[in-house]
Amino acid sequence: MKYLIALDAGTTSVRAFVYDLSEKKFVFRAQQEVGQSFPHPGWVEQDANEIYFKAAYVLNACARFAGDELAGVGVTNQRETVVLWDGVSGDPVCPAIGWQCRRTAAWCEALDEDTKELIHTRTGLVPDAYFSASKIRWALDHVPAAQAALRAGRLRAGTVDSYLIWKFTQGKSFVTDVTNASRTMLFNIRDLSWDAALLDRFSIPADILPEVRASDARMGEMMLGRRTVPLAGLAGDQQAALVGQTCFASGTGKITYGTGLFLLFNTGERCVSSASGLLSTIGYSVGGKTVYALEGSMFHAGSGVQWLRDGLGMISTAAESELLATSVPSTDGVYFVPAFTGLGAPYWAPGARALLTGVTRGTTKAHIVRAVLESIAYGARDLTDCMQRDSGLTLSGVRCDGGASANDFLMQFQADVLGVAVDRPAERESTALGAAMLCALSLGLTEEGQLPAFRAAGQVFSPDPARREMCERGYAGYRDAVRRALLQ
Ligand code: ADP
Repeated sequence: MKYLIALDAGTTSVRAFVYDLSEKKFVFRAQQEVGQSFPHPGWVEQDANEIYFKAAYVLNACARFAGDELAGVGVTNQRETVVLWDGVSGDPVCPAIGWQCRRTAAWCEALDEDTKELIHTRTGLVPDAYFSASKIRWALDHVPAAQAALRAGRLRAGTVDSYLIWKFTQGKSFVTDVTNASRTMLFNIRDLSWDAALLDRFSIPADILPEVRASDARMGEMMLGRRTVPLAGLAGDQQAALVGQTCFASGTGKITYGTGLFLLFNTGERCVSSASGLLSTIGYSVGGKTVYALEGSMFHAGSGVQWLRDGLGMISTAAESELLATSVPSTDGVYFVPAFTGLGAPYWAPGARALLTGVTRGTTKAHIVRAVLESIAYGARDLTDCMQRDSGLTLSGVRCDGGASANDFLMQFQADVLGVAVDRPAERESTALGAAMLCALSLGLTEEGQLPAFRAAGQVFSPDPARREMCERGYAGYRDAVRRALLQ
């Protein structure tokens, strides 16, 4: 067998990739955009059926390419988003509630301190509407079809992976993996089981939830074309990227520079509890071993560049930001804080507002563009400082991916600000690569039964000691600007 398929069911698109085991690269890809709807302010919904049909479409396109040489399908997916469906008809009972949906924010804030503490100690998360638990509770409270299915013992609830695998296997597999489960706010990340106390507090019956398997487990079998192929290997998107970037050693981490910024830092088999408001989560579980990670995110990173382009019209393409930023030697004292919708870790200040400081009569758009790019690197520095403090581990290097990692200026500046090498692989689809690697391991296609390293070497940006002092001063200036953003 020559090929594997990695299915990446993301928030805005569903994509599938054919990985060629002998050429060691993706050789074919198919993509379908998926819609989102926003029926009320702060609400985000998706049509689970649309996700399923488009996933089936891209899988079939890849299967046609792979023909008889297809060994199996690995899956990765947007996390936290909840689907509730009827376990007999297979129809969703309501729209999928998206991870960005804030409809349960007030409900989460009103949880008593004891429950909040329980959530933190059992799940490693901070109590928030972002995670799945309150979304499931909301549907049980407000959706008559969910209540009827529950009474009839037919209700199923899970993240997008569970729904897709249930559909692909025609209801035979009702499963998820530990990384997806760890984002529900219902999963005990130390015991690796649904947490009875939390299920009880949220009045969520355990039997509507999927069976939780390891990330390298066999998930079931599906028909693709005229063949039955195994569904093998599963992880949430950020965790799959950690795997795809081969961050297998504790102290290694990856940063995804997309609309927002996601940092995952491997803490080995130790589950580190964060004192800085970072999330403790499961990195992956393979070969009977569970590896933990600390996770931090910035809500806005590349979106700042989009704002320069679409909001201010300062640049016509995102790539142009690099040319402008390198046309000046520094920001000349200008700082930007990308708090468009508040600040996440480590500040957790929903009321903070974005800020541009230090502007003088001599400030040009090049300084402003550079300040926006630098703010992304400074935000990542905030997160890595917290991670090192919380875990006692020293960051040995960072691997990067996501749209904005195409920016060489940003990558070099990031290396200078962190003081460690920033390593950008040639193939930046780390998420899909991680799913393909888990699939290969699950199917026994790897040597020594270990995770293979499908990652292709790319470019390494090494920190320049000569710029260290300037970067430290810049970072101090950024922290000062953040303090002002927090006062707003
Ligand atoms: P997402 O998966 O969150 O939609 P992507 O990984 O596709 O995001 O990255 C898109 C983001 O990257 C956009 O916000 C865009 O502004 C930014 N981006 C793309 N290319 C560049 C570039 N060369 N320099 C800076 N930012 C970029």
